[in-house]
Amino acid sequence: MNLLREGIADFEPLTLPDEQIALVDLRGTITNDEVSLSHPGIYTSIQDAQRAGWLIGIVSSKTLENQRRWRRYLGLNGPLIAEGAIVEWRNELHYTNPLVPAIAEQYVIARAAAQQELVSMGVHVWDKDDPTWAMAECRIGSVGDPGDTIAFFDPYRKLGMTAFVRVLDTKGQLIQNKQETKRVAKYIRPFALGHPMEPHDDGLVGDTYQLTTKRDGILAFRSIAGITGRIAVIGNSKKDDVGSDIAVLLAVGGAEAGFRTDGTANAPQTAGVVELLGRLTFAAKIEYSSSARNA
Ligand SMILES: [Mg+2]
Repeated sequence: MNLLREGIADFEPLTLPDEQIALVDLRGTITNDEVSLSHPGIYTSIQDAQRAGWLIGIVSSKTLENQRRWRRYLGLNGPLIAEGAIVEWRNELHYTNPLVPAIAEQYVIARAAAQQELVSMGVHVWDKDDPTWAMAECRIGSVGDPGDTIAFFDPYRKLGMTAFVRVLDTKGQLIQNKQETKRVAKYIRPFALGHPMEPHDDGLVGDTYQLTTKRDGILAFRSIAGITGRIAVIGNSKKDDVGSDIAVLLAVGGAEAGFRTDGTANAPQTAGVVELLGRLTFAAKIEYSSSARNA
């Protein structure tokens, strides 16, 4: 097979990490919003990379519970590095920052108070599970009635109190509404413990407690796993710049301006991850199998 003709080798050579470990960001990288994948080949490309010797995991600011769902769904074999620099590796949970559990307890109390306020103002509160999946699988009656404004909280979030604001329409669709989003933000703000957020363009309001970075999580993972070389991080924004001393930074197409990387995919989001994993898998068959690397 002529690889050039097949288009496989028609790329700049990819800078490879020392360790055969690639951690992928979720939002804007694997997913195009909270739950949607934009390329059907993602599962296969992950399995192919893992068969070629890669550990594929997640590094994102999502909750550990959210990441576990993605790990199951995508069949990942690598570590999870979640909100609060919490690391899950080989069935063991590591709290990198000892303040995380204490702050999480305070948020349980703050969230309950904020929710009580919302209910008293006629806003429906949903707090049963990860809201991103609940919203994707929403049915009339399961979350409220047509016309209701619903604040979808995430009961798993440890370092923050955020809610997606939606209005349920008569067809059972959850619709974003700027007015209602602002109203909910106003009710939640007095209960914030961290940094109150301006309402996001996707209807997310609340506050976040900036305690840790993705770099903290990766440093913790390195020490837990006994790794000294660079791993690969695949992301889409400056938040994924964990430092070139510990990672080769790879970006999907359409990444945030100013995100300095060692390689970029042509395609955005899920398709970009498929592309980069394909190139890592291809490289692994040549580079990582050579004895030179193990010398
Ligand atoms: Mg992202």
